[in-house]
Order: sequence, then structure tokens, then C-alpha cells
Amino acid sequence: MIIIENCAVATVDDDRTEHRSGHVVIGDDGRITALGPGPAAVGDRTATRVDGTGCLATPGLVNAHHHLYQWVTRGLAQDADLFGWLTTLYPVWARLDTEAVYAAAAAGLGWLALSGCTTSTDHHYVFPPGRDDPLAAEIEAARLVGLRFQPCRGSMDLGRSAGGLPPDALVEKTEAALLATEAALDRYHDPSPGSMLRISVAPCSPFSVSPTLMREAAALARRRGVRLHTHLAETAEEEEYCRHTHGCTPVEYAERLGWLGDDVWLAHGVHLDDRALARLAETGTAVAHCPSSNARLGAGIARVPDLLARGVPVGLGVDGAASQEAGQLGAELRQALYAARLRGGPTALNVRQALALGTIGGARCLGRADEIGSLEVGKLADVALWRLDGLGHAGIDDPVAALVLGPPAPLALLLVGGRVVVAEGELRTTDAARLTAAALRAHRRLLARAEPAGRRAVA
Ligand code: ZN
Repeated sequence: MIIIENCAVATVDDDRTEHRSGHVVIGDDGRITALGPGPAAVGDRTATRVDGTGCLATPGLVNAHHHLYQWVTRGLAQDADLFGWLTTLYPVWARLDTEAVYAAAAAGLGWLALSGCTTSTDHHYVFPPGRDDPLAAEIEAARLVGLRFQPCRGSMDLGRSAGGLPPDALVEKTEAALLATEAALDRYHDPSPGSMLRISVAPCSPFSVSPTLMREAAALARRRGVRLHTHLAETAEEEEYCRHTHGCTPVEYAERLGWLGDDVWLAHGVHLDDRALARLAETGTAVAHCPSSNARLGAGIARVPDLLARGVPVGLGVDGAASQEAGQLGAELRQALYAARLRGGPTALNVRQALALGTIGGARCLGRADEIGSLEVGKLADVALWRLDGLGHAGIDDPVAALVLGPPAPLALLLVGGRVVVAEGELRTTDAARLTAAALRAHRRLLARAEPAGRRAVA
């Protein structure tokens, strides 16, 4: 049993209950057994007691969109829009092997943990035919770091010769992609309560996936009762592509293919008109908002307050580290608030809404709001204890404002299912220096082996 007390608590439950000074008690089954104001009433002498003075306890953050493999291809195509960035990086990614994916995923997940993230998805869609299974590598990395993991088996089957954006060598055959996706579900998906590993189905984007694969992937996911994820409405160029190729907007295209529904979450949703917002709301389709990535690629600012006003579930994603080198989820709380206010003015989004996006909003995207995303008795003990009494935060009396508006806060403690992953700002499940060295080695090896186009990207 772990007893955290004397800390502020922001539960992010339905009533948004907060305590100026309170406690959270975690049972040996990895779930929250008590929570409330003041000290814990439990007198168990064997319990580990954590003095949270000067700290704020929140639900662990939930990352709703990522491409972990990109950790080893950061810093390239620095001034490109999405399509230019992708065409520069595809030849580099074509040389990915499982060792690079493992090193990238371990580094990316370790860094996420250090920014308060307890659950992450990943969207891996680069499966050069004839290579080992990169999904297995990133699952192994998630086990090492100790985060709850919901990777997507992504896919691309629309190469350049068929009118798509990626080179032909980087795409799979439609049938092979579907079979491999089903095999990943068979092998890894754990639907049980408290699961540390669930798999979602995620063809990549309208310009890299055929309509057949989109339709069949949705049918597969629904047959197997798992969630669906894809990129949609990220850039103006994507909208042009959809209008030119399919004669409709990205959201109309998605709807045509059976891709709206309460089992779907979409990455980005930047370019949405009122009709698209209404269809997302009516169908319960969720959106993973990626404000830093959208800024890095100059994609635009998503209409998050409008989505929230209509009841669309919205979570936060850091997105792949090649389009968002910072790779931290804690910092996205502030970025989401800033982006919303740059578009809609000073009342567009407040600090508590930002925290909700990064916690319960992400949990709704992943279909796990019954178990994670808020601190409530019976839920999984995925808890972030942020230290707010240091130089960067002391004097900001509202702890949620200190967390969201202040600099990235250090973690006193990060628990996943009651297991310590971070303590006093350091990873406890693995060695951060080793992760750094392995990622650097993989980066150098990959760039040295990359096609000339990849080398040019570095020059
Ligand atoms: Zn993405």
C-alpha cells in the first residue's frame, strides 16, 4: 500500500473535485482505494507513506498520438510543411530496423514518463516488407519503461505509383497489411481489466492508404472490438488532396468509409468546418489534438474550444518526435492553452480544461476512461505527483495554474498501476543514460545508412 498525503489533489473526475491538501491511497492491487481532503485515515504500518507537501497529485497524463520510432530521426526537415517533411524523411525511415525502433521507443517512452505520462499510444505505420516486427520491439520497450501502452498497428498501401505520397518500397500490399494487423491483435491485444497492453488498428492517412484498406481495417477492428485511429484533417494540402482525389472534405471521406464513430479517434482535426464538427459530435468521434506538432509544421490551429463546446472528446498527443522534437506531454498542456488562446482569445481555454485534455480527454480517445484519466476510488493508480515548491513554481498559489502555466514541473513521483516509474525526477525502471546512448547510436547508424535524400536532409 502507498499513501500519498499533504499534497494538493486535482482529481479531474466528473465534478472536477480538487483538494487544497489531501490524500490518495493505493492498494496492493494497483488501484486507488481512498482519496479525499486532509490526511489519510488509514493506519496501516506496512504502508509506504509519501509526504506530498509542496506537490500536486493529478491523474497520470495520457498521450493520444505518437510515432515513437521518430525519436531517432529528430532535427531533420526543420522548415518544411507536412508533405515536404514526409518526402524528406520517408527514405530515412525506409532503413529502420527493429534495433532502431526499440532504441527510439525506449527513449521516447522514458522521456514521456519524465513529463508525467503514464499511458501512451503509438502509431507505427512503417513496415518495409521482409523486416522483423517493429511492433514487438516497441512493446518490449514499453515493458522496460513500465508505461501502460496502446500501440496501433498502422499501415500504408498507397505508394507513389498509385497516386499516394510514400515511395512504393515503403508500403505494404493491402491484404498483407490486413493480415499482419489481425496477427498483431491475436498476439498482443489484452482486453482484460487493468491491461498494460491493448492494440488499435490504424491505417496512416488519406494520402498513404487506399479506400479499400480503410474500409477493411474498420471492419476488422469492429469484428474484433478494438479501436480505430488515423490522421485526418491535419493540413490544407491534405484537404486539397481529398477534394482533388475524392471530391470531398477529409471528414466526408472518412464518413464514406465508415470511419466516424465512438470507437474512432482522429489525430489532428485541424481543418474542420462547422459541418465536420457537427458530424464528429453526432457520431462520438474523438480527436487527438497535437498543438506543438501543428505549430512545428505550420499546419494551423485546431478549433479545440469549438470541439469541446459540441461535446467531442478531445485528448492531447505529442505526435512523433521528428515533427515535435521536445516530445514531452506535460508541456503540451500549456501549448494547448496557448494555441487555443492565439486563435480564440484569452478565455478560449482555461488551465483546468487543459489538464482535462491531457488526462480524461486522452483516456476517452483510447477508450479507457472507465479505468484511467481521473483519480477516483476503484480506478487504476496511474498518478503523477508534481513538485511545485521549487524556484520555477513557488508563489503560483493555484497549483493547477502552476502546473499548466509554469515551466515543465519536475515529478516527485510517477506511478503506473501503483508501480514507481519515476521518483524525484529520475526514471526508476531503467537507466536514462543508457536509453540516451542507445538512441544516439541508432540515430547515427540510421543516418549513415540512409539514402542520399536522407543525408541531404541532414546537410
Ligand atoms: Zn502523427
